[in-house]
Amino acid sequence: MRCPSCGRQIPDDALFCPYCGHEVAGPSFAPLEDPEELKALALTLKEKYLPGDWKCWVDEKNGKLCFGLSFKTALLVRVLKWGRWAMTSTLITALDSALRHAEEDLGLRFVLVRAHAPLGHLRLCYKVSVRKTS
Ligand SMILES: [Zn+2]
Repeated sequence: MRCPSCGRQIPDDALFCPYCGHEVAGPSFAPLEDPEELKALALTLKEKYLPGDWKCWVDEKNGKLCFGLSFKTALLVRVLKWGRWAMTSTLITALDSALRHAEEDLGLRFVLVRAHAPLGHLRLCYKVSVRKTS
């Protein structure tokens, strides 16, 4: 389908446009943007799902959940010269797998809406939606 906001082609099951973040949520999922609920979710992820390489925090202004490397892991990635990209890729795969598990267990959907690296610190931000119970 096409994003109604920016017009780009996006996956049919997308809940948010990966290009502009516009919400295209279907009827079975509702966006989870309340800062307190996101904080509670961040805590659950930290305790039960996230590998220790990742930390998680809430972008309250934009209603997103963001992930970055822990200090120790970021330091390790930094000192690696040739293996840096391979390690980064492995770390992202591990994060992705953790989020897929959380999605299944908790009835959530995580959609990556922003990936950037301010000052070399990898940061991935997700919009979260939750399966409607009714
Ligand atoms: Zn869009």
